Amino acid sequence: MSVLGRCLGERRVRQLQRTLRNGRLTLICLVLTVVVLRGTIGAGRFGTPEQDLHDLRRLLHRQPQLPHRALTEKHPDASSADGEDDPPRDPSAPYSLGPKISDWDRQRADWLRGHPGRPSFVGPNKPRVLLVTGSSPQPCENPIGDHYLLKAIKNKIDYCRVHGLEIFYNMALLDAEMAGFWAKLPLIRSLLLAHPEVEFLWWMDSDAMFTDMAFELPWERYAPYNLVMHGWDEMVYDDHNWIGLNTGSFLLRNCQWSLDLLDVWAPMGPKGKTRIEAGKVLTAYLKDRPVFEADDQSAMVYLLATQRERWGEKVYLESGYYLHGYWGILVDRYEEMIENYHPGLGDHRWPLVTHFVGCKPCAKFGDYPVERCLKQMDRAFNFGDNQILQMYGFTHKSLASRRVKRIRNETTNPLDWQDELGLLHPHFKASKDAKS
Ligand code: UDP
Ligand code: MN
Repeated sequence: MSVLGRCLGERRVRQLQRTLRNGRLTLICLVLTVVVLRGTIGAGRFGTPEQDLHDLRRLLHRQPQLPHRALTEKHPDASSADGEDDPPRDPSAPYSLGPKISDWDRQRADWLRGHPGRPSFVGPNKPRVLLVTGSSPQPCENPIGDHYLLKAIKNKIDYCRVHGLEIFYNMALLDAEMAGFWAKLPLIRSLLLAHPEVEFLWWMDSDAMFTDMAFELPWERYAPYNLVMHGWDEMVYDDHNWIGLNTGSFLLRNCQWSLDLLDVWAPMGPKGKTRIEAGKVLTAYLKDRPVFEADDQSAMVYLLATQRERWGEKVYLESGYYLHGYWGILVDRYEEMIENYHPGLGDHRWPLVTHFVGCKPCAKFGDYPVERCLKQMDRAFNFGDNQILQMYGFTHKSLASRRVKRIRNETTNPLDWQDELGLLHPHFKASKDAKS
């Protein structure tokens, strides 16, 4: 030190010693920080030192905290970015879904003759069915709503796979005037015309879920009909009640009659003045209807009630099972159903569909508290999902739980095992498999 002292001078040596002391302190602090961080973020538990370093660097350089699920669309709304919107329609001209087609039955029959490999019936009394559902092009206003849309489409995919139905999910607004619950009309027309091979189109709302995975629709019963909706003749034709039928889940045959029906169903749909004024007509005519703009369901009740002789003969209002089932009267009974009944019944004992009418999990406001809706949607989903999971040896721990448990032991002869509900190789799918 004295040699160093002589070379550098007393003052410089003291400064150097202080720097070294500080450095040692800094080093101890750094080691302690690394130890604590490893503990809290767990980065080092499985990672290599290189990964640790990488994780630490990421942690230290992290961006300022973003709000939870920063999902707001950063780009401007497509309508302003993509250029021209359609020119507004002359409001005095009557609304139309498209050019009038009057020989669809002949056109379709010709097509089917020319395409024997794509028959409209996939088995005796088993029509080719396209299940159609959808939601708006934008993300949900309530971000958790997108997760429930995902659960609802997963549920429908499961039912369709088990029953050999085709499925289409739409997220495009095909006609800006027909936004909201009217969006299904232009969509249904387009799909009927594009798919002559499809015999029945099955519309199902995004907020409806299958709760009976084993129930096959009684197709024979519908052979003489073109439109099948859940409802009651008296409530529609006698009472003119606006909830006498429900348009959240219905079947429409691919034929001229259906195109004509869509044409007379649509004119109350265009948003703005038309829809508002039509809403007044509907509220005045229909029993118990609140004051609000025209909706597709009220318009259908109105149409059938005022023009029964034109349409009634080909309309089947189904109340023998829940083609649509109002959630309010079903969701608290799932445990009781499990206790007493089994899937495959479709009715009040084990409802085919649970429809969350008025819940609007995707929107900011619905008619019911959103917590209640989401809790019950989870229960309905799990109730249906248990019937799918049982095929693979699992079940949800409870109707409220996302978690699952095993319901059978693993075996070295897996093919000996038969699923209780017969959904793995269901007979109603057999003829389709054989054909394709
Ligand atoms: N829908 C759609 N695009 C939209 C808005 C709604 O396809 O932009 C569909 C969606 O499947 C929804 C249905 O229209 O489930 C009817 O609306 P909702 O279920 O909210 O009405 P509710 O059954 O509550 O009367
Ligand atoms: Mn609905």
